Formats: sequence, C-alpha cells, structure tokens
Amino acid sequence: MIWKQDIECMSPAELKSLQSAHLQRLISYIYQNCPVYKEKLDAAGASPDRIQSIDDIKRLPFTTKDDMRDNYPYGLFCCQQEGIGEIHISSGTTGNPTLVGYTKDDLKLWGDVMARVLCCAGAEPGDTVQIAYGYGLFTGGLGFHYGALEMGLRIIPTSSGQTARQLKIMQDFKPRIIACTPSYVLYMAEQAKEMGIDPTKGNWKIGIFGAEPWSESMRQEIEAAWNMLATDVYGLSEIIGPGVAQECQHKDGLHIFSDVFYPEIINPETGEQVPEGEDGELTITTLTKQGIPLLRYRTRDIVSIRHDKCRCGRTSPRISKIKGRTDDMIVVRGINVFPSQIEHVLVGIEGTHPHYQIIVDRQARKMDAVEVLVEVEQRFFSDEIKRLNEIRDQIRKEIQNVLSIGVKVTLVEPKKIPRSEGKAKRIVDKRTL
Ligand SMILES: [Zn+2]
Repeated sequence: MIWKQDIECMSPAELKSLQSAHLQRLISYIYQNCPVYKEKLDAAGASPDRIQSIDDIKRLPFTTKDDMRDNYPYGLFCCQQEGIGEIHISSGTTGNPTLVGYTKDDLKLWGDVMARVLCCAGAEPGDTVQIAYGYGLFTGGLGFHYGALEMGLRIIPTSSGQTARQLKIMQDFKPRIIACTPSYVLYMAEQAKEMGIDPTKGNWKIGIFGAEPWSESMRQEIEAAWNMLATDVYGLSEIIGPGVAQECQHKDGLHIFSDVFYPEIINPETGEQVPEGEDGELTITTLTKQGIPLLRYRTRDIVSIRHDKCRCGRTSPRISKIKGRTDDMIVVRGINVFPSQIEHVLVGIEGTHPHYQIIVDRQARKMDAVEVLVEVEQRFFSDEIKRLNEIRDQIRKEIQNVLSIGVKVTLVEPKKIPRSEGKAKRIVDKRTL
C-alpha cells in the first residue's frame, strides 16, 4: 500500500513541476512574513522574482542550527504566534535550545508524511502499533502518533522506558508494529529473555527504528531476535521530526518525501552539489512548511542519494542510511550530544580541568551508556574522599540537566586523559554499529 500514490509515484517531470511551484510560493511567503529571512534572501540575491524553478534553489542561502539558535525563539517564525498550534524543543549545544513550531497545517503535514512512513514500512489499516519512542518535547512519540491516527491504526502509546510493562503489553495485545530506537528494541529483547519471554513468539510484522545511527548487522540482530522486518526511519526535529524518509520493504535506501522536503547532497566544504551516488552532507528545504520553514538546512548527516525507480513502485529518491556526521555531535538514545555541552558544565565547576573525554558504549546489548572522564586538580585526590564524591555528583547532575540523559562520571588525576596533537579527541565511540 502506498499512502500518497499520486505523489509518491509521480513521474520525475511532474515532481519537478510540483517542487518548483512549491518553492516559488514558499519564497514569496517567507519574504513577506519573516524579516530575518528577507534580509538573508536579499543578501544572497534571491528575491522572489529570481526564483522561477526548483533549479534556482542553488541561489538560496543555507540555514544552520546556529541560525535557529541565534534567532531563538521567534526570529525565524513566518506566521503570527497565535498561528502556532504546537511547539517542540530539542536540546542544543550551549545556550539556546532549538525551537520547532508547527502551525495547524504543519501538523497535518506531519500526520501525512508519518502515514506515508508507516505505509512505506508495510503497515496496513487495522494494524496495531506500539509506539515506544518518547512522548513529550522529543518529536519521536507524537510524530508516530499523528501518522498512526491519520492512517487509522490502533495505537498503544507506551512511550519509552518501563520495559517490563512494555513486554507485558506486547504479550497481551500482540501489536504487529513497533516503533522505537534500535538500541531500545535490542535491550527489550534481552530483557524479555531474562523474564522467560520468547520475543519471536509475537505477532510481529514490522519494526520502524530511528533517532540514532544503526547498521546492517544490527538490523540482522533485531530481525532474528524479534522475527520481524526491521526498517529505518529518518527525520530531525528542525525539519519536522520523524517523517522525512523511510525504507520500504526492499530495504534498499530510504524514500525521501522530496515533494515537501527537497534534498540536496553537497560537499560540506564547498557547498556545491556532489554527483549522484557520492557521499555528501544532506541539506533539506521544507517546501510547504509554514511555522518555521527552513531553506537548505544543513543536517550535518552524511548520505548519498539515488533517483532510480524502486521495485516498490515509488519514484521518490532514496537516501542511504546515515554514514556519519560532519561535526562531532553524537546521537545517544535519540538525544543529540555535543562535547561543548559537557565543556560548558565543567567551566562552571571549580577545580576541574578543561580535559575530559566522553565514552559511549553499547555493551552486552544494553542501552547506549555514556561515561564522562573528567580531570580534576591533584589536591582533591589528597583530600577526603567525601569531597571527591561531591564534585562527581555535582558534575553528574549538571550534565544530566543539560543532556536529559543519565551519565556515569569518573574523576581522574591530571594528565590521565591522553593528549593529542591537533584536535582533542573528545569522544570515544565504542558502539559497534
Ligand atoms: Zn521502495
């Protein structure tokens, strides 16, 4: 089943003409409604009269996460505040978080693209979906919720966590679809076995996993553990949340809904588009969003793209799984973590050195775990142990406040963290993807 057959299976010429019409309308709209964008467009020589087709997108300025933070909260809004129906906030680096505002039409769009996601993964009307992505300011839970409502699925909104209860619900209601992060579904399989439950004995058909990078070997592990088809979903809050791209049952790239989220793959250094099939930074223009439309938003995710028709019948282009990042951000349990966030915490704590290291691990199929090594002044090691514990607890609490995830903090003596020439190695990612 294809949710928007007329759009998802359009000929390339029809698609281009639709994208062109959307882009022209978008540029006029934001030029009239957002002074910050108007200034940027004028500076780039991209006033509405110069945008005739989607090919003119190259004239538009890029938008970055910094632009969103610098204009927090309302600078990039293109509608009146009363027009905003829902807001979400994602963790930023230091300073301002990133605000995402949806108008009522944006929420409809979200429901529509998420219904496309569910269908693309293989959902059918009448299916039951257990949504074990977090609900709340994180966009995962509600995004899936709106899509499942739109499609008319039966929803079990468990949100994330409380694993024993999740497993009980699975046994009692036998959902056919689960949506959560890939590391969480593996963790649940492990917990199920410990409780004497066989995860393959459900009614499973499909899993829709995302919000963190994962590999083909993880896919095989999940499919074997649960006896289900494991598919990859891509999205980011700045653009809309989940709902930007989704794998179909052929698992041969993620269909990106390019009629509304126009993708460009660029060389992150030069900003020029790279040839088809080559790796580059995914850049997205939201062609129809009203609240905070984004022009050529630099996702920092490295992917490749292809435009050939898929065996499923969809003509929408396909992006590869995420192959890496252009910055040093890591994604842990769906949360963006930047080293600068840790640094910011440490600056405020007396007696710590600016030397730290973040270690991420995924041992024994547990949830991703974060350990932060922090160098503290030698004197603390000769003081009472109580003082050392106090500092450690303070660092742990403050980091948890900033990141919204628990971390282990280990204090070490000065010069214990390896120094490198050049750029300090702040992150050690031991996760096997
Ligand atoms: Zn396909």
